[in-house]
Amino acid sequence: MWETNWRASAGCRGTDPELFFPIGSGTSFPTVAQSEEAKAVCGRCPVVRECLDWALNVAVEGIWGGTTEAERRAIRRRSA
Ligand code: SF4
Repeated sequence: MWETNWRASAGCRGTDPELFFPIGSGTSFPTVAQSEEAKAVCGRCPVVRECLDWALNVAVEGIWGGTTEAERRAIRRRSA
């Protein structure tokens, strides 16, 4: 079981969760713009490392740890 106590310090607490789940194709302007907005929140988050480690080890959709699903797949491939 993964430790998730870091969530208590999450920089996205109080942010609309929908921001982190862009709808649409990965390269469409609204999707990219929403992803970048969510990543900016992650960029100010004190637990971004813990969040990314968690997201790399569980199958989750959306923006976590400052990365998209596709970016996490690429990280997993590189480290395989
Ligand atoms: S890294 Fe992003 S998604 Fe993860 S807890 Fe921080 S703000 Fe939320």
